[in-house]
Amino acid sequence: MTQKDLLSITEEFDSPVYVYDADKIISQYQRLTNAFKVNELRIHYAVKALSNISVLKLLNLLGCGLDTVSVQEVRLGLKAGVDPSKIIYTPNGVSLEEIEEVVKLGAQINIDNLSVLEQFGSRHPEIPVCIRINPHVMAGGNSKISVGHIDSKFGISIHQMPHLLRIVENTGMHINGIHMHTGSDILDIGVFLYASEILFEAARNFKELEFIDFGSGFKVPYREGDIETDIEDLGAQLTEKFEKFCKEYGRELALAFEPGKYLVSESGKFLAKVNVIKQTTSTVFAGIDTGFNHLIRPMFYGSHHEITNISNPEAKPRFYSVVGYICETDTFGNNRRIAEIREGDILSFSNAGAYCFSMASNFNSRYRPAEVMWYNGKAHLIRERETFEDLTRHQIEINFETSPKELVDKE
Ligand SMILES: *Cc1c(COP(=O)(O)O)cnc(C)c1O
Repeated sequence: MTQKDLLSITEEFDSPVYVYDADKIISQYQRLTNAFKVNELRIHYAVKALSNISVLKLLNLLGCGLDTVSVQEVRLGLKAGVDPSKIIYTPNGVSLEEIEEVVKLGAQINIDNLSVLEQFGSRHPEIPVCIRINPHVMAGGNSKISVGHIDSKFGISIHQMPHLLRIVENTGMHINGIHMHTGSDILDIGVFLYASEILFEAARNFKELEFIDFGSGFKVPYREGDIETDIEDLGAQLTEKFEKFCKEYGRELALAFEPGKYLVSESGKFLAKVNVIKQTTSTVFAGIDTGFNHLIRPMFYGSHHEITNISNPEAKPRFYSVVGYICETDTFGNNRRIAEIREGDILSFSNAGAYCFSMASNFNSRYRPAEVMWYNGKAHLIRERETFEDLTRHQIEINFETSPKELVDKE
């Protein structure tokens, strides 16, 4: 997918627009599966990162399963043709009713609190469930790389194991999987491996396991020279530990992961047009035809997205503040060195695959952008840009019978 391809996409589908490179998704999937040479590897793509049905279909073709956090995501997966046995459902704080709905759809349930575990086990002791453990691993007090810190709302505390086992025994339920999810960018493989030891320790308590799920948190690079999770190194070390565990456990288990970012972040580009160049006393603003309604990560998490001017790539770089059109602070990047920007140029944002479109909103009553998949050397529209009808579709207007004057005059 070249810069010329991207420019042609904005010509065909207008801006702003999200573009996903299918080849990049495929190569990330292959890199991940090559890194873990275990008997059975299960990759469940975290749908919440990017939930377009065509993306789910592509991953399904590769043999990838899905990790879901809502019944709606389960339904999207089924619509994409994914077999329910390859869908794991890992919600947090949802109702028992929703979990039961997902059971009917046939997905694997993952339970992350004792209250629901007890209720579920009492009602459906025959349905096997996976349990989400919080291993409470802290790395040097940096909450960014901690694995389920002590105050996290996620998972069942490893310290509650006796209570958990009592519930399993009392209800006669079957535990077929055990799970942890770091929920952050793994920079330190050692921390992850340490957490995995805790999970193995916990796993010894259950005799009917089929899989161990190590969640995700694989970090991808956001700028040149960025640290990323060394997936090959992690793969080699965890594979060894996992095989050793399976020997002791007495049975081959499946090793599972549920990456979102790792599979789709780098595949995505977000393309926007420059509406206005504005010089102030302190900086040069490039104002573009989008805002945090379409790409909230910089304002929400302080995330970095590389910005390049694909309309004028050979020009001399200058410094810009790239801002959106939302009537609030709406900054994509300050002091960015970008090839000279002219009004009408197209800017390309990198790492726009994960948590970008899926977090887009209609704030300021703007339409959510179109999505395109670049596949087999061609652009395929996979979501239309919204229209005015989409903004009003579900609104119900009241026919006020009184005139405005009567409303005001009333005592
Ligand atoms: C969000 C989430 C993931 C994916 O995390 P990434 O950092 O995008 O890889 C995996 N598992 C669960 C349970 C999640 O909530």
